[in-house]
Amino acid sequence: MNFDFSDRVGRVEPSATLAISNLASELEAQGEDVVDLSVGAPDFPTPDNITQAAKDALDAGHTSYTSSNGIPELKDAIAAKLRGNGVDAEADEVIVTPGGKQALFETFQTLVDDGDEVVLLDPAWVSYEAMVKLAGGTLSRVDLAQHDFRLEPALDELAETVSDETKLLVVNSPSNPTGGVFSDAALEGVRDLAVEHDFAVISDEIYERIVYDGFEHTSLGSLDGMEDRTITINGFSKAFSMTGWRLGYLHAPSDLIAQAGKLHSHSVSCAVNFVQHAGVEALSERTDDDVEEMRQAFEARRDMLVDLLAEHDVDVAVPKGAFYMMLPVDDDDQAWCEGAIQDAKVATVPGSAFNAPGYARISYAASEERLREAVERLAEHDYI
Ligand code: PMP
Repeated sequence: MNFDFSDRVGRVEPSATLAISNLASELEAQGEDVVDLSVGAPDFPTPDNITQAAKDALDAGHTSYTSSNGIPELKDAIAAKLRGNGVDAEADEVIVTPGGKQALFETFQTLVDDGDEVVLLDPAWVSYEAMVKLAGGTLSRVDLAQHDFRLEPALDELAETVSDETKLLVVNSPSNPTGGVFSDAALEGVRDLAVEHDFAVISDEIYERIVYDGFEHTSLGSLDGMEDRTITINGFSKAFSMTGWRLGYLHAPSDLIAQAGKLHSHSVSCAVNFVQHAGVEALSERTDDDVEEMRQAFEARRDMLVDLLAEHDVDVAVPKGAFYMMLPVDDDDQAWCEGAIQDAKVATVPGSAFNAPGYARISYAASEERLREAVERLAEHDYI
């Protein structure tokens, strides 16, 4: 039959990163050695104590449904962790989700109606736009590219963009795709606007544990005035190298949790039982050394990559967190990325996917040796 597809799915495109990963897979199938810098996953194994906790949970028979919003031990551990960030959190204000992505999806579905205005800070992670469109919202955008991906110098533009009509703003610091980390002054600027115009803010803090230069992460929900209007999103994928485990969460005031919990229970039911038990272990201090080791490795790679690119006269906005970097390329970044993978066999993601044409996103979740190889190949084929 000819399916009559919903308007909803018609509003979104498949992820723009797909074209690149398909090309990379094709080339690899032909026996080519592709340096894949397009992935958004840490290249480390999950720490042993976490894996062991999952095995123990399986052996103990934790294989049935859990209560929809999550097992009490994990909600308690998450609330305690958030209180450590200065967020006034209780266990019953948490929903444990299969990945931070599901936490975001539930939040947009809970808050955004047809025509509601949602503000994004560009370059923005690909899925925010898709999720807003699926919820029927309209997008307004503030471009941070001209400010070296910093928010503080763009606060005036943000002030001009938001209004009493604004429903929701999305803040992602440390940022995918830029690696930018917003200053406390920038976050306070966000707070002032949110309070003035009475809008809610999603604070996606999934890269919180990957910050450099001695920087300390600030949770937006810890600022005065933000406690009753912030939805904090976080997850285990990046900090603990657990992308395939699918574990994340949202924290919000309890009236929002009651509404989002309906979506949660009617869609995913709950996050995987034994994975939640592993999550409790991940949040324990027994994992801190491994997290710090991974953070240091990412920081060393960032330093190396910035230096290597400088040797080729390429100046980048030096990332302060996450494991991404924006490489300035031709105006046609899609063509640049396709060429770079065809000719130099280096896979990156076109900036246009993040509403940042003229850039390619490099993920440095790869060994120093592979990063060196990538820069050499790009230089050899005149891509930098
Ligand atoms: N937010 C951002 C900014 C991300 O980059 C990602 C993963 N790429 C997520 C949320 C979702 O991660 P997960 O669903 O694996 O927790």
